[in-house]
Amino acid sequence: MRHFTVYDSMSREEREFAPITPPRVGLFVCGLTPYDETHIGHARTFVFFDLVARALTRWGYRVFSVQNVTNLDDKIVERAGELDEDPLVLAERHFLSWRAASERLGIRSVNYYPHATDYTPEILVQIRQLIDRGFAYASAGSVYFEVAKFPEYGKLSGQRTEALRPGARVEVDPAKRAPEDFVIWKAATPGEPSWESPWGPGRPGWHIEDTAITVRLFGPRYDLHGGGLDLIFPHHESEIALAQAATGEAPLVNYWMHGGLLNMNGEKMSKSLGNIYSLETALDEFGPMVLRFFYLNAHYRSPLEFVRGKSLEEAREAYARLSLPADRIAELLERDGVERAGEELPDALEREAEGVVERLDATLARDFNTRESIAVLFGWTRRLADLLGRLEAYSGSALADLKAPYEWAEEVLGLFVRQPTGRPGAWASVVPLAIEARARARSRGDFAEADRIREALKAVGIRLEDDASGTRWEFIGTD
Ligand SMILES: [Zn+2]
Repeated sequence: MRHFTVYDSMSREEREFAPITPPRVGLFVCGLTPYDETHIGHARTFVFFDLVARALTRWGYRVFSVQNVTNLDDKIVERAGELDEDPLVLAERHFLSWRAASERLGIRSVNYYPHATDYTPEILVQIRQLIDRGFAYASAGSVYFEVAKFPEYGKLSGQRTEALRPGARVEVDPAKRAPEDFVIWKAATPGEPSWESPWGPGRPGWHIEDTAITVRLFGPRYDLHGGGLDLIFPHHESEIALAQAATGEAPLVNYWMHGGLLNMNGEKMSKSLGNIYSLETALDEFGPMVLRFFYLNAHYRSPLEFVRGKSLEEAREAYARLSLPADRIAELLERDGVERAGEELPDALEREAEGVVERLDATLARDFNTRESIAVLFGWTRRLADLLGRLEAYSGSALADLKAPYEWAEEVLGLFVRQPTGRPGAWASVVPLAIEARARARSRGDFAEADRIREALKAVGIRLEDDASGTRWEFIGTD
């Protein structure tokens, strides 16, 4: 297992990583509250933690990666009311379209997406423990966590409990003993989904969903907790209080990792501010590689400024420059295979390529500095510039050696994955023609021909889907 360091938000320093039970690593990342479509701000966080899991796996750790789904909360209930839809159905619909988009983005490291409402029994057990230990109290059909009973509250965020108090003009909930107390079981409101409990029908509060899930899946303590910077307070602060008060064990988490936010026009991208750019649109317009490149070309803890009509266009150009040798080599190897005859590499160059791969691992071993990894890759691309015209002369194994740094990036950064549009726009221009031919065949009643076209596309990994608006296609690959 390779050694590496992590910037830990709790101790506010970069620390050497040591798992509780090596080689296993428990990684929990706060997932979506799927009340609407996913935007590119959410995806930044999830791409980063996908990279963390990929790097750890490469270095010999066995990662168990969990991302919860807050499939019931106030926003979901409110949106469902507007659309006259069942809240749980609405949440699942948005969750599934996020999963489809995350597949396209190459996020493949998450082992399990637990849904909060599937953990109601665990949540009720934890509430009972908190009441029995004197940290929580029932009042008016709800249950509250009493913040004053947990003196360490505020240690992660550096926030004082006063920050939880509403402003002078906001009315304090009379059911609470103190304004900073937060709800862990919310009394049922007519028309909303609710569950039976010893304190009356209701539904869980937000923070306790995560701790019920992690105590169940990881036990009272685990290695890594990740999420966006905006979740530190009060969410993560409250997770610590709930879990440590309920289990009596500490610390809940050994390393807290927080990713910077994506800003648009200087403000956090968020639905409530109305400044979003949807992930699906970004994927359609730029493809997954450009998006991943855009995210990973910044340090994960820094804010990332997104400017519409500029940021992804620049990323596309830079990524095209970076991947020029990788594309050429991949084309030659695809055409002739690794068996192709030709010149071998000079020893010095072979060692140089190996050295680049070693440096790439080293960049990530220092708190996942992907910006530096990409700088190293640019260095290699510049190094190969002189060789570009002569690549044809090399043998398959020589080309494979030259490609090693890009293969590292494919494995860890998820870049240089050959897309169906790898030869620019090839599929995008050919598939619609095939779809048109199929539509014409169908309109003249030649269904055998229409099926033949569908099967031919399927054979190269393209799936067609017919609906009222016509035929859509997607590349699903072949296996
Ligand atoms: Zn969470």
